[in-house]
Amino acid sequence: PSYRAADDRYERLGGYRRAGDSGLDLPVFSFGLWQKFGTDRPYATQREIVLHAFDLGITHFDNANRYGPPHRAAEKFFGTLLRKDLAPYRDELILSTKAGNPIGPSPYLRGGSRKSLLASLDHSLRDLGTDYVDIFYSHSPDTSTPLEETVGALVTAVRSGKALYAGISNYTPERTREAAELLRRAGVPLLVHQPRYSLFDRRPERNGLLKLAAEDGFGLVVYSPLAQGLLTDKYLADTIPTGARAEDSAFLSPDVIDDTYRERATALNEIARQRGQSLAQLALQWVLRQPQVSSALIGASSTWQLDHNLKAVDFPPLTDEELALIDRYGVH
Ligand code: NDP
Repeated sequence: PSYRAADDRYERLGGYRRAGDSGLDLPVFSFGLWQKFGTDRPYATQREIVLHAFDLGITHFDNANRYGPPHRAAEKFFGTLLRKDLAPYRDELILSTKAGNPIGPSPYLRGGSRKSLLASLDHSLRDLGTDYVDIFYSHSPDTSTPLEETVGALVTAVRSGKALYAGISNYTPERTREAAELLRRAGVPLLVHQPRYSLFDRRPERNGLLKLAAEDGFGLVVYSPLAQGLLTDKYLADTIPTGARAEDSAFLSPDVIDDTYRERATALNEIARQRGQSLAQLALQWVLRQPQVSSALIGASSTWQLDHNLKAVDFPPLTDEELALIDRYGVH
């Protein structure tokens, strides 16, 4: 059956935020294909989730050469979907990809060299079946490569038209400042930084990244705002629910679900309950309270999760008292 996007999709999301000082609006929620978008789940399920996200007003889909499993599978999946369903909407999509994290034993399939980044970008474009991505990221800092070389590759990507904007991810504030300066001088301003940020990882507050984003004029697309599902009510009970990420993912060990975790999550869940919302909704609202956060980059394994989580923006803002209470249970 052919797909037609919901006509009211731009009224449903809770808004779009300007990414830093750029001209680009990002949806307050973006969707990432890190896990469960490889060969591990049926195409029909994956298709249903992504198209539902688009129907809800999510215009930004985040990928990387690594995503799947196996590596590259998520981009191949998205390429098929783009060809079959989303092609008429390409101008309404913000697609991103990343390179630099290892995807194989070859020295050219890792790191921040020109070779690694630009060959990977070409490969991603082939897999996605598109002439350009909207945002191309250096996935992680590579301190063994001159920053000039890594930044130079991002500049080349943009100048060649294969990417419209440049981003970096997981960089320290110091290295971010240097990268942003080099990019600015090259006439390709840094659009966004993609850090991890949640109630369980407040590093961007502590290390100055949030402040730098405001000063330097780039946006933050914050990943794992639900701490991979730990900031939902699904792990509060004694047994891990079937199919949950902590059951079978290489990236979320069941060992983190211990008494300390349960104590914190239960307390946060109670704060959420008193506000008439779920822990997931509280956690998402909490990252979005920061104006430098252009978008909360979420994952979902069902359309139900998307519908539920996106309601986070329908609740009244967190009060100072609630924020102070939350401070007691988040991890600083
Ligand atoms: P989240 O913290 O939003 O976790 C999403 C997962 O939590 C879902 O897939 C689902 O997992 C579970 N979940 C979501 N909502 C609910 C709910 N209401 N109730 C119960 N469980 C729920 O984000 P991710 O960790 O998935 O990261 C999002 C994206 O960020 C990635 O896809 C990727 O694009 C990006 N990212 C970037 C990184 C980088 O280095 N730049 C690193 C990591 C992520 P399940 O149902 O399977 O348990």
